[in-house]
Amino acid sequence: MLDVIALGEVLIDFTPAGKSETGEVRFEQNPGGAPANVLSLLAKLGKSTAFIGKVGDDQFGHYLHNTLRESGMNTKGLVFSKDTRTTLAFVHLDDQGDRSFSFYRSPGADMMLRENEVDFELISNARVFHFGSISMTHEPAASATLKAAAHAKEHGVLISYDPNLRENLWDDLTHAKERMEQGLFFADVVKISEEELEFISGTKDLEKGSSYLSDRFDIPLILVTLGSKGCFYRHGSETGCRSGYHVKAVDTTGAGDAFLGGMLYQILEKGVPLSGLDLEDMDQMVSFANAVGALVTTKKGAIPAMPTIEEVLVLEKNTKWLNKENVSQ
Ligand code: ATP
Repeated sequence: MLDVIALGEVLIDFTPAGKSETGEVRFEQNPGGAPANVLSLLAKLGKSTAFIGKVGDDQFGHYLHNTLRESGMNTKGLVFSKDTRTTLAFVHLDDQGDRSFSFYRSPGADMMLRENEVDFELISNARVFHFGSISMTHEPAASATLKAAAHAKEHGVLISYDPNLRENLWDDLTHAKERMEQGLFFADVVKISEEELEFISGTKDLEKGSSYLSDRFDIPLILVTLGSKGCFYRHGSETGCRSGYHVKAVDTTGAGDAFLGGMLYQILEKGVPLSGLDLEDMDQMVSFANAVGALVTTKKGAIPAMPTIEEVLVLEKNTKWLNKENVSQ
């Protein structure tokens, strides 16, 4: 049996990499796409993973295929399109280092995944199914994604979901909200940012927003990521907060995906249903996931920046030690 299967977009991020002699921005190609990032962390930590998605039958598509394979994923479910090209995204950094994206996806191969191209048997043979909302921006991938989630639900596979709001990928925000909510109805574990939580629940208040999500969509575990501040979580009626780790962040790409991968790793390691986890377990699991997210920010890119288990444990241990030192001073 497979540990985790993910379905969704995989694409090339062109990220700024310095300037040419004439002062023009240089871009370097990096593998991108949230579901593949989540799997790459899990594969690095030794879990068995498989990816379902679509790329163009072009140089970029084959580069992505090799990257996923070399990261340790099963790529049996990756489809090559003869008619559409691999999606490209250019990342722009403003003076404050904040990112914005230009997508070349009209349509991109990732949006063209069809239901009859999805390997449903792979999904029912996994312990966890992970997906996000970006594969639901357009048809036919939207229907294929929802069918895959429904199949996982029918077969009792634990469902992890990332309702990602990238505003310029949707035709309009009403459509975005509808689709993000459709995914939430399937989810057992949700990773959501503060902004996305406010977009769905209409409140900035983390207690109220997460309570709205938990009641309306019946979600057992909600993780609200807070950047360098760490994470707020809701497990049933219990809530908690774990602060982030102090690291020298150079690139936050993929931090949320790595964080979620860290959480899924912990869920698999515990081997108990979500209902069997207590607050102490939650604190320890979120602390681990925070460390994974923090470490990814210390290197450029997402997949190449995923940490090893040793690196995560060292950061956790050193931070505990530093905190103790501070208390005793
Ligand atoms: P995305 O990466 O898709 O924007 P996100 O908004 O969910 O996802 P963040 O909140 O930026 O992601 O980060 C996820 C987790 O990574 C945080 O909850 C935190 O644990 C860790 N993290 C992110 N940025 C930092 C940072 N600068 N320093 C320390 N930890 C960080």
